[in-house]
Amino acid sequence: MQSLWNDRDAAACHNDPLALRAYTSRLLGREPSLVLHGGGNTSVKAPITNLFGEPEQVLLVKGSGWDLATITEAGFAPVRLDVLQRMAELPKLTDTDMVKAQRAATLDPGAPTPSVEAILHAIIPFAWVDHTHADAVVTVTNTPDGGRRVREIYGDRVLIVPYVMPGFILARAVYEMTRQTDWRALDGLILLNHGVFTFGDDARASYELMIKLVGQAEDYLAANGKKKSSPVKAAGAPPDALAQLARLRKAVSTARGSSMVARLDQGGDALEFASLPGVADLASRGPLTPDHVIRTKPKGMVVGQDPVASVQEYGVRYEQYFARHRTSGLSALDSAPRWAVLPGVGTITFGGSAADADIAADIVRHTRRAIQAAETLGGWMPLGEAELFEVEYWELEQAKLKKPGSPRPFQGKVAVVTGAASGIGKAVAEALHGAGAAVLGLDINPSIKTQFNQSGLAGGVCDVTDQAAVTASVEKAVGLFGGLDLLVSNAGLFTPSSALADLDEATWQKSLALNLSSHRYLLQAATPYLKLGVDPAVLIIGSKNVPAPGPGAGAYSVAKAGLTQLARVAALELAGDGIRVNVMHPHAVFDTGAWTPEVLAERARSYGVSVEEYKAKNLLKAEVTSADVAALALAMLGAPFAKTTGAQVPIDGGNDRVI
Ligand code: ZN
Repeated sequence: MQSLWNDRDAAACHNDPLALRAYTSRLLGREPSLVLHGGGNTSVKAPITNLFGEPEQVLLVKGSGWDLATITEAGFAPVRLDVLQRMAELPKLTDTDMVKAQRAATLDPGAPTPSVEAILHAIIPFAWVDHTHADAVVTVTNTPDGGRRVREIYGDRVLIVPYVMPGFILARAVYEMTRQTDWRALDGLILLNHGVFTFGDDARASYELMIKLVGQAEDYLAANGKKKSSPVKAAGAPPDALAQLARLRKAVSTARGSSMVARLDQGGDALEFASLPGVADLASRGPLTPDHVIRTKPKGMVVGQDPVASVQEYGVRYEQYFARHRTSGLSALDSAPRWAVLPGVGTITFGGSAADADIAADIVRHTRRAIQAAETLGGWMPLGEAELFEVEYWELEQAKLKKPGSPRPFQGKVAVVTGAASGIGKAVAEALHGAGAAVLGLDINPSIKTQFNQSGLAGGVCDVTDQAAVTASVEKAVGLFGGLDLLVSNAGLFTPSSALADLDEATWQKSLALNLSSHRYLLQAATPYLKLGVDPAVLIIGSKNVPAPGPGAGAYSVAKAGLTQLARVAALELAGDGIRVNVMHPHAVFDTGAWTPEVLAERARSYGVSVEEYKAKNLLKAEVTSADVAALALAMLGAPFAKTTGAQVPIDGGNDRVI
């Protein structure tokens, strides 16, 4: 563990305690093996001057919901220190009352809610306090004789705190344990199965002590822990691996009661873990630290021959676990696993979005490593299930998962959109992603890869007239997100205008290949996965030219008419599998790549009108935008069209020939 302290960056804080506090907190946050996704917290005690000009001591403590990796000064709440210290003297306090009292003692009503560890920070008699869930320290303590090993590493320079619930109970336990303690003789607190606290008179001292203590645990693991193993060879994915993945994701989504994105990890570490002889037992013993339980559930799942049966069995066991520990008034959470082992293949995580599944994947990556290290230290022994249950059903942990607002309409859905680098395709792909879906956007334009390059919005280069490339792209989407629910077949091109008498063969063939056959390739490749999707739906982008063809647009209109017929037949054939297929006929969406100035001029000429007249040539005199089309697309893929298939919906500002 290396110190990341930098004199120049520290000097830029100008000795302002809050600026320095944010700075060294981010140093901790930069190291995922110290804190992962919201784990850990920090504080500084400092004087402030109140409204009446009087000095007051406050604890500036990390706010709930802030991540140490990205925290700024705004992420700390100023809480009256004397109130927090007096709270530690109370013999009893419920967590709800504790949060309420901490909130009331916060001097800035706009500040975030103080960390649930604020009282513990307050009673440590040093200005600076740092707390992490360092992998190495927790790994050592998650073994049968963890306490003894901690003594072996640190001697008497740390206080060992046996595991108790975080929050008031932990603060109270430390308060009682340290009444007679000479804090100056300590380097830190080691909280078994939980983490480590360090403290100091200045920002650097407390931070460097954290690095030192964690480094010692890492050295101990290196000397006593996991030996280098030879790389494991992949067993080779079974021929129907992707279909099995989609089946598994659907079963997990059903158990959850909403769509889940699945992320498969087949990297070297994941494969090695998934190939361990005792992996089924190891994956179900428990998490690295109890706060992970809200992201990973108490146990991982091991996938057997039949993924659906595995999920059902996991659910039954979860319900039994709930029944064993429930207290009155508690209702069970969903029984879907959040991570699983595919023996001999890798590990897989599930989340309501790609970002959530990725957070679970980070946690699982660290957990796998810790399990393997602890196994060579006498055995992986995390907290027992009674303690895990307490944390999983702790109101304060559950509150972390409850984001404001209602769930987004396409949360956890997986979509493929073609022609996604510009115009209608781009607008639809971005709208789906904004509404919660994980999206693979395809385009022949290589810029798609840089345009769509964030969590849950990926880009892939694909020539949709190449059947093999289309199949590979659909498989890519399933591999990336675990399945496929929504297909938007949009890629197309307005081929140059020509009267039929003058139409050349190349233009005709090009239009048929791009505007008709490519959609069949996509539909055919996607159908097996759509059948395993969650409320699957297909949207085909047709054209106003289907109901109202224009002169000179023969190649385009004929292909789009054929495409509409393809969609109608697909609607008939796929209804039995619950797959809806609908067609949208847009027109005059001038903010798309298809409407180059040349095309516009050409079309206007075909109708014998000016470009301006052509643009306003609809009954509502409305200009239809890509965003309007995207809004209709989301409606047609979503709940408003849940009971509609085989429909053709125009979006053209009103056209008397269509009406
Ligand atoms: Zn903690």
